[in-house]
Amino acid sequence: MIPTFTTDEFTATYISKKSKKKPFDDNVMETVKEVIENVRTRGEVALKEYTEKFDGGIPHSWQVTEEERAKAWQEVPEEVIEALERAAKNIRNFHSKQLQQSRMMEMTDDIITGQLFRPLERVGIYVPGGKACYPSTVLMNAIPAVLAGVSEIVMATPSRGGGAITPILSVAADIAGVHTIYKMGGSQAIAALAYGTEQIESVDKIVGPGNAYVAAAKSLVFGDVGIDMIAGPSEVAIIADETADPVFIAADLIAQAEHDEKARAFIFSTSEKVLEATLAEVKKQCAELPRKGIAEVSLINESAAVKVGSIEEAFRLSNALAPEHLEIQLENALTHLSKVKNAGSVFIGNYTPEAVGDYFAGPNHTLPTSGTARFSSGLSVDDFIKKTTYVYYSEQALRNAAPYIETLAKEEELDGHARAVKVRLIQ
Ligand code: NAD
Repeated sequence: MIPTFTTDEFTATYISKKSKKKPFDDNVMETVKEVIENVRTRGEVALKEYTEKFDGGIPHSWQVTEEERAKAWQEVPEEVIEALERAAKNIRNFHSKQLQQSRMMEMTDDIITGQLFRPLERVGIYVPGGKACYPSTVLMNAIPAVLAGVSEIVMATPSRGGGAITPILSVAADIAGVHTIYKMGGSQAIAALAYGTEQIESVDKIVGPGNAYVAAAKSLVFGDVGIDMIAGPSEVAIIADETADPVFIAADLIAQAEHDEKARAFIFSTSEKVLEATLAEVKKQCAELPRKGIAEVSLINESAAVKVGSIEEAFRLSNALAPEHLEIQLENALTHLSKVKNAGSVFIGNYTPEAVGDYFAGPNHTLPTSGTARFSSGLSVDDFIKKTTYVYYSEQALRNAAPYIETLAKEEELDGHARAVKVRLIQ
């Protein structure tokens, strides 16, 4: 079911920049441009029109009430609440270690330089609610924002036909520390978060995944607000040798493929035997999968099995691909970690399926896709912090630096800059 590729074929199909696909097509962009412009200029009226059109009903109030949030706790089974709380604890623990203090870089009597770390004030988290429901997205996006000290965290998720939102999302929001939940989705929700309406206050940054309409909307509002990233299809690359278990590898490839038809699942192996057994196993396991239809499309059209000559070659391929998720299923797997140059998150050893990180271990699951791990990183506390630099110079420090500053200012033909120094030193 998964096609086999040579390393050259794989490179041409999945790594070459020429092979990169746009994250959304032109029709989506056209629709979204219109939605954003209308919500920006007509506010509440347009938000209602598009919510009626795309979500089949307008909620009584955008905001989920305290009563609705309390009621949701009665509707979610205890074991689900426990799983969410345990995952939240791990995510909190991991991300709390990313916190940094404001700091001075230099401090003498004459010169002080440093950085102030300040949280963003208002953040919007988009949580998809169209085809499925993702409470893990709530935890992964909101907890780093809470830890960073963001004053107001709002969450937007579509309600079905204007009714209640899925109770588990509300419970996850409470556990994570989300202040306000809005029942709105798609590009109209992104526009409302970016520009505000009569009833919705605008935010400074929007984070969280979504379908093509959501991704296109985030790309259009970027600049007026911050965004985390434009996520492409989710992907995993697995590097395996003859010690790897084809049953485990097949399960992890399928776990990736069931996300959606465009998801990508790759295996690079030094062992022909493991590759063959994996491909047979994928077929077998897929047959029993409830989301078989989706997984099959992804495995046939978007995935690949590659026989590599050595482990080094496998890492060269993986580093060039820069996968969102990388699994190392090799003998003494931990010793190979130093070979990783580009990857969103790494899962090491036969007993660390990506699912451990998707839900539970602590590192964030919002990760760079489509090769962007070459220059960017997964969501972290840093995404919710601004780093403002500051400088203090005494008169003596300015006197000492003046010749250099004036020389550079003159080279750039900015006499005003030179004068701003000179006027202070005429005595
Ligand atoms: P969604 O909430 O992203 O999108 C639903 C909204 O899309 C609707 O509310 C509607 O307003 C809008 N919409 C639907 N059809 C439209 C149309 N024809 N024109 C204009 N707007 C329209 O939920 P979804 O559709 O289930 O998509 C979720 C996506 O998020 C999936 O692609 C999934 O793979 C992805 N996801 C990614 C991660 C991650 O971490 N990378 C996590 C969870 C989900």
